[in-house]
Amino acid sequence: MLEKTLARTKIIATLGPSSASEDRIKRMILAGVDAFRLNMSHGDNETHATWVSMVKKVRKELRRPVAIFVDLRGPRIRLGDLPEARNLSVGETIEIVNAKRSTHSGALAIDYPRLLKDVHVGHRILIRDGRAEVEVKAIEGGALICRVKRGTTLVAHQGVNLPDSAVSAPPLSAKDKADIDFAVEHNADWIALSFVRSAKDVDTLQRALKRRGSNMPVCAKIEHPSAIDNLDEIIEATDAVMVARGDLAVEVGHAKVPMLQARIAQACLTKATPVIIATQMLESMINTPQPTRAEVSDVANAVMDAVDAVMLSGETAVGEYPVQTCQVMHDIIDQTEEEMFKAHWRLRPNVERRSRDQAGVGMAVANSAVFTAHLSDAKLILAFTESGRTARLVASFRANRPLICLTARENAFHRMALFWGVLPGLICEPRTVLELHRLAADALVEHRWLRDKDLLVSLAGTFSVAGGTNTMRVIRLEDLRSSV
Ligand code: PEP
Repeated sequence: MLEKTLARTKIIATLGPSSASEDRIKRMILAGVDAFRLNMSHGDNETHATWVSMVKKVRKELRRPVAIFVDLRGPRIRLGDLPEARNLSVGETIEIVNAKRSTHSGALAIDYPRLLKDVHVGHRILIRDGRAEVEVKAIEGGALICRVKRGTTLVAHQGVNLPDSAVSAPPLSAKDKADIDFAVEHNADWIALSFVRSAKDVDTLQRALKRRGSNMPVCAKIEHPSAIDNLDEIIEATDAVMVARGDLAVEVGHAKVPMLQARIAQACLTKATPVIIATQMLESMINTPQPTRAEVSDVANAVMDAVDAVMLSGETAVGEYPVQTCQVMHDIIDQTEEEMFKAHWRLRPNVERRSRDQAGVGMAVANSAVFTAHLSDAKLILAFTESGRTARLVASFRANRPLICLTARENAFHRMALFWGVLPGLICEPRTVLELHRLAADALVEHRWLRDKDLLVSLAGTFSVAGGTNTMRVIRLEDLRSSV
């Protein structure tokens, strides 16, 4: 019964004016949303704080694990002020200057102090999601002299991409630092960094969190060509990866994105690093109540690739049908997974240990649990976790059984909502191992996750030591209950 109702692939929905009310948030969670993203590139932190309180209130009422995912703007480059909309026509020559230093009238300003240092003759500058493309022909008197190759109408502060330039901006701007303060202060569950270029960028964010006393897990957004070059080290360094297809497509060209998506997802799965597929998954539902066939296939293909989560952006932030879009996404996941489990599901024996998973013991035990559950036909896998790490390790083997992960830590409870196939459960802090088993048995019965005669595989570690999972037990629920 459990398998049918439990979606393994998780859904992240971006909050925005269309979704930010308690009623909408509630309906979106009931429709299948597991995490809400705050896109720090838009809106002010007063509004974000209101949205965080709404999510916290609703998830508490529903007693559901729902992650709050703060997405930092990172070194994203934008146009400066534009007094009025400006049309760029193909073939036109324009001057582009650094917004901070500009005195040129009529020049287009880009808000990036290192513009003239990083951009060279022959480089492309893409503006407004790549709708405008200009090529640098010369650099004269503090201005880039550019020829328009693709034109559009521009307004102030639209996004700029420099796909040919080695962007040397620091990974965290002053705004990002204020947003990290916000995430820590509001006890967010995940924090993502845009335009990650190397493992060093991830490390910079991790150190910034540590200085603020936080161990919040970090998600690296892959959208810059340098991140592709440094993919393996980023996957090793980070807690999760997002394939941010919007900017990635602008930077590398649309046609390269599908194979990159497959390559990144595969690399993450191999290293037990959670991976999220983002952007335009159900884009047409911003304005229409039904998706296109191609969008349905896009979501289903991500599910078949066994990624951890799929993300909605404009669909839920500014779309007309935020709740319906979540329902549609959940239905596609449900139908695809049902067929996958019936037809050609295979466990993933080729998961590799990451060097930062200090020892391979947790991973070896997680692997054993998944194969034992499969061979013994146990109904589910039960794990206890302090930090959520065991949940991530077991999830990485993609068992075709539910994975119940119990924790006494509220942060871990919500963080685990992003992991493939994990059903997090919140229990009171146990004082002894016996009490832990009693709480587990109570939770299994209360949630009707198991019947008395059902077999389960349980994983545990040395009592109250984080990261020490080293014991596996195969037991019937009735025996677990009578042992406590
Ligand atoms: C993307 O570019 O695909 C993305 C997810 O980032 P953002 O929504 O912040 O532009």
